[in-house]
Amino acid sequence: MVETMKIDIVSVFPEYFEALNVGLFGKAIERGLLDVKTHDLRDWTHDVHHSVDDTPVGGGAGMVMKPEVWAECLDDLLGLKPVEINDEDNPATFATTHQVADRPVLIFPNPSAPLFTQRDATELSHTSHLLFGCGRYEGYDARIPRYYRAQGVDVREYSIGDYVLNGGEVAVSVMLEAITRLMPGFMGNPDSIVEESYTGQNALLEHYQYTKPAVWRGMGVPDVLTSGDHGKVDRFRRDEAIAHTAQLRPDLIQQLDCKSLDKADRKTLMSLGWEVSGPHPRKLDD
Ligand code: SAM
Repeated sequence: MVETMKIDIVSVFPEYFEALNVGLFGKAIERGLLDVKTHDLRDWTHDVHHSVDDTPVGGGAGMVMKPEVWAECLDDLLGLKPVEINDEDNPATFATTHQVADRPVLIFPNPSAPLFTQRDATELSHTSHLLFGCGRYEGYDARIPRYYRAQGVDVREYSIGDYVLNGGEVAVSVMLEAITRLMPGFMGNPDSIVEESYTGQNALLEHYQYTKPAVWRGMGVPDVLTSGDHGKVDRFRRDEAIAHTAQLRPDLIQQLDCKSLDKADRKTLMSLGWEVSGPHPRKLDD
């Protein structure tokens, strides 16, 4: 039986998410694997202008999203009643709690939060219900995530990269794609997500990929890939992944567990100037 993931998205531009109906994501909705609902935050406003923002306390440029509007919306979607909380017991934190059964994980994109990684996507792909809140303007009042953490909600704040977007809609789309493609049954060929960049305990960037023709505009592919020797192909790709990662993302090499590297992996790393006798590889000229 297909396990459906419920996804609620709150935004001042809910129409942005119409694009989700295409491609594999759209097919997953059709097949009942995903149940996506978008909500217009302005539906929870009471003034004639449907305002969701106000000037920053303390002054400064721009506008900040109001806690009252967000809270009315989130209380409705989470089935919670408003309460007064002791603010001193609830300091600002990005720490996560565990999901309470039948309650969604609440996710706010935020450029000044911890980076969203494949590990987060993998963990969240096993969740039954996600609720995303898209920020706009200068962002949302910092008390909102604190309040819901204090209510026992598993609240996550994630940045998708070191740059600032106009709003959370793009960031939510990025996270949604990364999360849902890891759900069992999402991909036509589940093997295609097993050997990808950032995947698994010893995560590397992927080796280069080629398709036919074997020679294109005078450019060939590495001979070993057409040799039919699967062992050699696997080794070649693994070495290429290690070399590629060592060049572009040495931080990922430093996180590898040396105990789980085979003899050939160690040899490749050593040839690239890494020492592999400790718990994690170390660049020799560091
Ligand atoms: N004043 C904020 C700052 O300097 O950190 C930027 C706010 S941004 C213009 C408005 C909203 O876009 C944010 O609240 C967040 O929801 C979203 N956003 C922008 N950049 C993002 C990023 N790199 N990762 C995740 N969300 C982002």
